Amino acid sequence: KKWVYSFGDGKAEGAAKLRDLLGGKGANLAEMSNIGLPVPPGFTITTEVCTAFYENDRAFPAGLKEQVEKALADIGNSVGAHFGDAANPLLVSVRSGARASMPGMMDTVLNLGLNDETAAGLGKRAGDERFAYDSYRRFISMYSDVVLGVEHHNFEEILEYFKEEQEYSLDTELSADDWKNVIARYKERVQEELGKPFPQDVNEQIWGAIGAVFGSWRNRRAETYRRLHNIPESWGTAVNIQAMVFGNMGDTSATGVAFTRNPSTGEKAYYGEFLVNAQGEDVVAGIRTPQSLTKKARLEGNDKKPSMEEAMPDAFAELAATFERLEKHYTDMQDVEFTVQEGKLWMLQTRSGKRTAKAALKIAVEMVGEGLIDEKTAIGRVDPASLDQLLHPTLDPDAPRDVLATGLPASPGAASGTVVFNSDEAAAMRQAGKDVVLVRVETSPEDINGMHSAVAILTTRGGMTSHAAVVARGMGRPCVSGAGSIRIDYKTETFTASGVTVKKGDIITVDGSTGQVLKGQIPTLQPELSGDFATLMTWADKYRRMQVRTNAETPHDAETARKFGAEGIGLCRTEHMFFDEDRIVAVRQMILADDAKGRRAPLEKILPMQRDDFRQLFEIMQGLPVTIRLLDPPLHEFLPKGDEEIAQVSEDTGIPADKLTRRLAELAETNPMLGHRGCRLGISYPEIYEMQARAIFEGALLAAKETGAPVIPEIMIPLVGMKTELDFLKARVVAVAAEVEKEQGKKLEYSVGTMIELPRAALMAREIAASAEFFSFGTNDLTQTTFGISRDDAAQFMNDYLGKKILTQDPFVSLDIDGVGELVRLAAERGRAARPDIKLGICGEHGGDPASIAFCEEVGLSYVSCSPYRVPIARLAAAQSAL
Ligand code: ADP
Ligand code: MG
Ligand code: MG
Repeated sequence: KKWVYSFGDGKAEGAAKLRDLLGGKGANLAEMSNIGLPVPPGFTITTEVCTAFYENDRAFPAGLKEQVEKALADIGNSVGAHFGDAANPLLVSVRSGARASMPGMMDTVLNLGLNDETAAGLGKRAGDERFAYDSYRRFISMYSDVVLGVEHHNFEEILEYFKEEQEYSLDTELSADDWKNVIARYKERVQEELGKPFPQDVNEQIWGAIGAVFGSWRNRRAETYRRLHNIPESWGTAVNIQAMVFGNMGDTSATGVAFTRNPSTGEKAYYGEFLVNAQGEDVVAGIRTPQSLTKKARLEGNDKKPSMEEAMPDAFAELAATFERLEKHYTDMQDVEFTVQEGKLWMLQTRSGKRTAKAALKIAVEMVGEGLIDEKTAIGRVDPASLDQLLHPTLDPDAPRDVLATGLPASPGAASGTVVFNSDEAAAMRQAGKDVVLVRVETSPEDINGMHSAVAILTTRGGMTSHAAVVARGMGRPCVSGAGSIRIDYKTETFTASGVTVKKGDIITVDGSTGQVLKGQIPTLQPELSGDFATLMTWADKYRRMQVRTNAETPHDAETARKFGAEGIGLCRTEHMFFDEDRIVAVRQMILADDAKGRRAPLEKILPMQRDDFRQLFEIMQGLPVTIRLLDPPLHEFLPKGDEEIAQVSEDTGIPADKLTRRLAELAETNPMLGHRGCRLGISYPEIYEMQARAIFEGALLAAKETGAPVIPEIMIPLVGMKTELDFLKARVVAVAAEVEKEQGKKLEYSVGTMIELPRAALMAREIAASAEFFSFGTNDLTQTTFGISRDDAAQFMNDYLGKKILTQDPFVSLDIDGVGELVRLAAERGRAARPDIKLGICGEHGGDPASIAFCEEVGLSYVSCSPYRVPIARLAAAQSAL
C-alpha cells in the first residue's frame, strides 16, 4: 500500500484535492509544487497511517519504513545532501498537518538530522559554524520538548542563565562557541531529566518525531480544539517531512508569515510579518518584535526597522508575485509561511486564510468584482454564523474614553467585562454568568477554553499573527494583542498601565477594532448594515428559495427584524400582552374569576390594549405576513408567588388573600410543560381566545386603514394534538371574524393554522391539515416532547450527554434531524397530501441555526423564522442551502 507521497522540484504525487489523505498542509505543499512554486522537496505520510497507527496499538503499518527510507533518500538526491552524512548532512523538518487546519495544536520539529558529528559537518560545509550550532541547539530543545517530553522551559532557563552570565541581551549575540557551550548544558539537562542521553542516531530521531506527531493527534490540546470545532477524531493527521531551508543563515535570510489580504479588515493589501536571521516559529513566538512586510504597513505602524520590501526587495518582489499566483490559483485569500535563505524565497505553507466576518464579506464581494469568483461562490464563502460578529455593537465614538493602553487591533468588535488573569478562572466565571476579559502576557493552546469563555482577550506580547490574535479572530472574540505598555503581575493579579493599577474583578473595555484598552464600561453603538454586508445579502436574497421571518412580539423587536430584512413575523407570542404592567391587574382578575361571566369584565378591559398592540405590529410589518400564536403558557405563570406578592396582588385586585391562595393551589401543576396550557386553555376558557381573535381582527383593520396595505393575519393555535381541538377553536375564531365583519361592514382576510409541536400532531398531520391552513413547526416543544426531555431541566445533564458522546449536539441548539427531523418531514408530507398548498414554516430556535436551516430547505418548508439578530444569518444560510 502507498503510504508516502512525494513533492518538490516542480512536481508532486499529491494535489490539493487529496486533502483527506494528505492533510491540508501536505495537499497544498503538493499543489504548490505542481504549479511550479519554490517548495523545498519532501514527502507526506498519509492520514491512513495515523488511523492504522491507532488501530495497531501505536505501531506503524508494514511497508512504511521502506517507503520512508526511499523517499528520504530521494530528497537527499534532490538537494545534494544525505540524511545522517557526517560531512554533508540533509536536515529535515517533521510537520504535522490534519485535514482541517488546527493552529498550534500539533508540534513541528525543525533541523532534524543533527548530532555532534553532522553539526560539525554542516558548519564546515556551510562555512558558518555559528549557523550550524544555532540550528543544533534549536533542534535539541524542540525535539526534547515535542518528542522526549523534556519541556521547553528547561532550555529557556539554561539560555537565559547563560545570557545573563555573559551579559548578552539578544540571542543573535551568541557566537558559535557560545552555542556549543549552551548545547553541552542542554544535553546535560536531557540526561538528567531522562536518565539517558539525547539521541545521536538520526534514524532514531526521525522515527521518534514521526511517532510524536501521530501521538500528538490525541493530546489534550488537540482534543480540546477538535471538540470546540467539531472535528472528528477519526480523521487523523498526516506527517510531512521536508528538506530544511534556513532563515537563520545571516542577514540575507529570514522567515515570515503573511496573508495575501488583510484578514482583519479584508482590505486588498499584503499583510504579514518577518524576522531577519531567524527560523520557523520565532515570528509567532514573540521572541523578537517582527518587522513589517511592506513599506506602507511599516509607515502606518510607525515602525522604525525596515520592511521586507525595503530590506530584501528581490525576495519581496518574488513573494508578491507568488501571492498573486496563489490567489488566482486558489481563488481565495491565502495565509502563507515562507523562508528566505540567502536571498532565495521558499514557500513552506499555504492555506485559505482565517478571517474575521468583516474581512470575509469584503473579500468575497471584492473578489466577485475582480472576476475571481462568481456571486454564488461568494455566498458560500461567508460562514452565516460569523455574521453575528458584524451585528454586534461597537464603541460609541462620542462616549468619554479613559484609555489605559493601546495595542494591536487583533480581532474587531468591542466588549466590556471583568478582568481575570487565568484561563481556568475565566471559564469558571463564565459558568457563573459573568462577562470576563482574559488578560495574559501571551496565550498558548492551553488557553483555548479560557479564551472561549471570555468576551474579549487582551495580551501584552505578540503581534497580529500571534496565537491570541489568530484564535480570537477564529472565535469572533474581540482581541487586543501586544499592548506592550501594560505590565501584568500574575502574583498579585493586577496590571498597571498609564499609572493606573487594575485589579482582578475590575471592569475594562477592549476595543479590538482600534486596539484600545479602556477603563470601565463604555457605551456601544449598533452596527451599520450597508456596504459589503448589504451587497452580499442582496445576492443571498436572489438565490434563496425559503422566506425568512422573525420571532417578534414587541414593536422594538419587529423594527429591528425589519432592518435586518425579515419578511414577516413567523411567531408572535402573545404572553407579554398579558404581562404588561398596564393590564396585569385585569389579567389576574380574569384568571381568578369564578366563571365565564366573571371573566368577561376584565377581558373587556384587556381587549383595547391588545388591539393596540396588534395594530402597532401590523403597521410596522406593512402588510407582510404576521403569525400570531394565541395564549400558550399555563395561567399560574401570571399569578403571584410567595406571601408578600400575594398580599400585594390581593390589594391590587380586591380579591381576599385566602381566596387567592386557594385559587393558586387549584392552578398548581406538577408538570406544567405538559399541563393546562396551549389550546387546552382555549378549550377551557374560549372567551380568552375569542378576545384575542377580536383584538387581532380589529387591530388589522385599523392598521390596514393607516398604512393602506392589506393585513392578512395568520392565527395560530398552539399545542394541538388532535384535529378536534383545532376544529373547536377554529370555529370560535371564524365566528369572531364574522362578527367583526358584520360590525364594521368590511371583509377580513385571514387564515387559521396550528403549531406542530407534539408528536401526535405530526403523526396526525394529514387529518389536522384538513382544518389547518398552515403549519408552523414549533421545534422547541417538539424536541422536548419527542425526546421527553424538559428543556428547562436539560442543563443539568446535557453536559454529561455531550461529554460522554451520548449526544453529539445539543438538540435544542441544532435540530435532531434523525428523530425530530423525521417527524417534521413526515408531518410536511402528510400535511401536503391533505392540502397541497399548505404553508409550512419553522419557528423554534432552530430557525436561526444554519444546519437546521439546510434541513428545512431539504424538506421544502416555505419559510424559517428566527430571533431578529439571526435574520441575516438565516438569509445567508437559506441561500447556501438552496445553492
Ligand atoms: P504549524 O502547523 O504550527 O504552523 P509548521 O509545520 O507549519 O507548523 O511549521 C512551523 C514553521 O516551521 C513554519 O512556518 C516554517 O517557518 C518552519 N518550517 C517548517 N518546515 C520547514 C522547513 N523545511 N524549512 C524551514 N522552515 C521550516
Ligand atoms: Mg505552530
Ligand atoms: Mg505552519
